[in-house]
Amino acid sequence: MRRNLVVGNWKMHGDLQSNQLLLGGITQGLANLNEADYVVCVPSPYLFQARELLQGTNISWGGQNALQYEEGAFTGAVAPHMLTDLGCTYVLLGHSERRNLFHETNLTAAARFDAAIKANLTPIFCVGETSVEYEAGLTEVIIAGQMDAVMATLDETHFAKAIELNMVFSYEPAWAIGSGKTATPEHAQSVHAFIRNRIARRNIEAANKIRIIYGGSLKANNAAKLFSMPDVDGGLVGGASLVAEEFVAICKVANSLKSRQSEIATIH
Ligand code: PEP
Repeated sequence: MRRNLVVGNWKMHGDLQSNQLLLGGITQGLANLNEADYVVCVPSPYLFQARELLQGTNISWGGQNALQYEEGAFTGAVAPHMLTDLGCTYVLLGHSERRNLFHETNLTAAARFDAAIKANLTPIFCVGETSVEYEAGLTEVIIAGQMDAVMATLDETHFAKAIELNMVFSYEPAWAIGSGKTATPEHAQSVHAFIRNRIARRNIEAANKIRIIYGGSLKANNAAKLFSMPDVDGGLVGGASLVAEEFVAICKVANSLKSRQSEIATIH
């Protein structure tokens, strides 16, 4: 059984004052919701604040990216161990904004996945197609490339550790991010099942264990239908994670639905 997971991606938003209000609202709203897991990925300068305000709560915090190197002349970058130093247990990787605006590739994203595992961080690895790729019917081709880069990069030891750390994948169609166009639950289900099958090619047990969450204009009013699909194990929330009531409402949906049950027995 997989527990639902809801992750807030604040992107480049916030300041000390507004973060305090937001985290206060979230911690209060989620205090007794213990049937799902919750994470907020905050901008790096505010990780200290997140640690201060979230320690001892049922909410974890994480980074929004980390480089594949441990140290060096990489101005502006963050190493995985810097995130664990600040109590992060998760890191977002391969987000479409990183891929499209900062030229990250399947190979660099996969290398970062590997480095995160080495540093004991749980990656939340984003995959998804652009609108042009979607229109051209290339969704599965694109996602296969993104997934296979990760699978090829992890050796047996790191793959076993990734299972232990409960690695997360997130289906985020770029055309749904911040656009108000949410994927239909049926489309999301079909892509999530595809992703699970891609993992099953390497290890069926891992495929059944790991969580695949959906992201792209997720709101409290569309979460229930998406989270009810058998292979959708929660959500990655951008815009709506900046409003405490909205984020809490999405988390309540995740908390109220029992964990997923889909099981892969054979590889497709
Ligand atoms: C995101 O960028 O991860 C995201 C899901 O954004 P939004 O919810 O705003 O579409």
